[in-house]
Amino acid sequence: MRALTFLAQRFVAGDDISDAIEAVRALNADGLKATLDNLGEDSLDEKHALAAAEENLTMLRRLHESGVDANISLKLTQLGLAFDEKLATDSLLRIVTEAERLKTFVRIDMEGSQWTQKTLDIFYAMHEKHPGVGIVLQSMLRRTEADCRDAVARKVRVRLCKGAYKEPASVAFADKREVDASYDRCSAILAKAPVPAMATHDDARIEAALKAFDAAGLVKADYELQMLYGIRTKRAKELREAGHTVRIYVPYGSHWFPYFYRRLRERKENLLFIVRNFFE
Ligand SMILES: Cc1cc2nc3c(=O)[nH]c(=O)nc-3n(C[C@H](O)[C@H](O)[C@H](O)COP(=O)(O)OP(=O)(O)OC[C@H]3O[C@@H](n4cnc5c(N)ncnc54)[C@H](O)[C@@H]3O)c2cc1C
Repeated sequence: MRALTFLAQRFVAGDDISDAIEAVRALNADGLKATLDNLGEDSLDEKHALAAAEENLTMLRRLHESGVDANISLKLTQLGLAFDEKLATDSLLRIVTEAERLKTFVRIDMEGSQWTQKTLDIFYAMHEKHPGVGIVLQSMLRRTEADCRDAVARKVRVRLCKGAYKEPASVAFADKREVDASYDRCSAILAKAPVPAMATHDDARIEAALKAFDAAGLVKADYELQMLYGIRTKRAKELREAGHTVRIYVPYGSHWFPYFYRRLRERKENLLFIVRNFFE
């Protein structure tokens, strides 16, 4: 925890993989599964992109050795998508192949809308030969309902979130109620996809998804509920105690600022928490 400012500690599990594995162990002890994310995005050169790929490979091996219950999440721009698509795709293939060998799963996070189509193209090409990879869709985007239908037709694993990036009105719903309504429509569609993962802290969205899953005949083992590290942990435990599979997204690493900034931007209480702690 040396370099990690105390302000970010609420949302980030630590500086390195050992810190993150300890955090996962504590979550597992409460019955919560995890997905580990080495923080970083927008690698600008080959050296950083390759280092990120190595870190993801190390994560997979360390998770396997430690025996904790966690898979991994990654971002394609961290692997170099912004400047060399082949480099990013080759690195993804190495990571997914290693995950397959270790019998675990890789989730590709979704980034800003300039990357949506490219990310989906790379994902679907990878999924054809390597089914142990999944994707994220964002209900704030106007295109996402159609993307969910496509995901069902192609039988891929989707994590549904609202979306954390600032987007123009041409591609995204500006009104929060529209984002929420889109989320509910999408979760109902994803009831027909394998292991839909509902990533939200919003009780009304969780409730609507559970209703849709129940109506579609799903049982608790068929889907996951997901939340972010440090947010609504008590609620996550309650959902686990009610018998749901709950997975916590656990970020770690020194490149925490963009992630931290998104958490502050989306909720005034998160900002107040930081300000209060700062003055204490
Ligand atoms: C597991 C996971 C993975 C994600 N992956 C991605 C990704 O790949 N790409 C991406 O763009 N985004 C991702 N996100 C972020 C997501 O898009 C949202 O930005 C973030 O989850 C906030 O949206 P929300 O659904 O919680 O709803 P919000 O509209 O932010 O919050 C809804 C309600 O949730 C409750 N709530 C929220 N936060 C708190 C809190 N701190 N304390 C108490 N109650 C709270 C409140 O009732 C609030 O009104 C991910 C989120 C999760 C949980």
